[in-house]
Amino acid sequence: MKEFPATMRAMVFEKQGEPLHLKSVPVPKPSAGQVLVKIIACGVCRTDLHILEGELDKPKLPLIPGHEIVGTVVETGKNVTGIKAGDLVGIPWVGYTCGHCKYCKSGRENLCENGEFTGYTINGGYAEYTVADSRFCFHLPHDHSGPDAAPLLCAGLIGYRSYSMAEPAAVNIGLYGFGAAASILIQVAIHQGKKVFAFTRPGDTASQQFALSLGAFWAGDTSLAPPEKLDAAILFAPAGDLVPKALELMDKGGSVICGGIHMSDIPSFKYDLLWGERTIRSVANLTRADGHAFFELLKNIPVKTKTEFFKLEDANVALSRLRKGEIQGAAVLVP
Ligand SMILES: [Zn+2]
Ligand SMILES: [Zn+2]
Repeated sequence: MKEFPATMRAMVFEKQGEPLHLKSVPVPKPSAGQVLVKIIACGVCRTDLHILEGELDKPKLPLIPGHEIVGTVVETGKNVTGIKAGDLVGIPWVGYTCGHCKYCKSGRENLCENGEFTGYTINGGYAEYTVADSRFCFHLPHDHSGPDAAPLLCAGLIGYRSYSMAEPAAVNIGLYGFGAAASILIQVAIHQGKKVFAFTRPGDTASQQFALSLGAFWAGDTSLAPPEKLDAAILFAPAGDLVPKALELMDKGGSVICGGIHMSDIPSFKYDLLWGERTIRSVANLTRADGHAFFELLKNIPVKTKTEFFKLEDANVALSRLRKGEIQGAAVLVP
């Protein structure tokens, strides 16, 4: 007898400009290579807002959003190896890569020409169940088995890939936008002996206090200059005007790393700001190797996520509060 029903509740994106609709839809069946996962929790990410608001275009429609999924495998399709029913898994943003384009062949599957993205071009985790390509699921460390682990699957992973782009010798790290990603990353950075400078929207003293409580060396708003030069800045806030602002604070050889998938336009700036081998770069998606490295690292670093839980049917509330900057840490849907 099957342990799961024929239908499930899901929050479905049907049309831009409309809220998500609570629907009863069939529980998907795993194809060859896929697993069916009963969802424990799914994080709400800023990228979800970019999809709903059309800044990321051409989503699959209708779409079940959500790409920070923690769940338990309940059924496996044909030809699944390494994952079995009962396993705890995390499902991230990158849901498929082709393995044969020039990016995949050169260790850069995050740039794959034929990539598929969870909760964007394929259905995601704002539901009770989902299917996923088993090769792109991560086994989670056992102390990250609950709904608190959901933000690790994007905020954590993309944050970690962004952080990995800083020079290893970088000590003074600026984090712009102190949300889910920064609150995870600061714990990794401090554990590795870095000094973290946290930048928030003007007036957001709550996030500044939050950053200081996690060990930030300095916290202030983006109009302020910290007491020391930065070796790297990681931008999670989607505001392009932060790029020249961060460059102004950058020491020689430092890098400004844009961790978001969408950003407003970057204003022009004097070449002087870039001179001295300063760099600006973006970070796109993630590779499975990033995921394995990150979860391996977490075995030795006691990272805690700060989460606010919402019922699945309250996804629109969670999204609206995230848009207004009212979520400290990460919003997580629990079906
Ligand atoms: Zn490819
Ligand atoms: Zn995300």
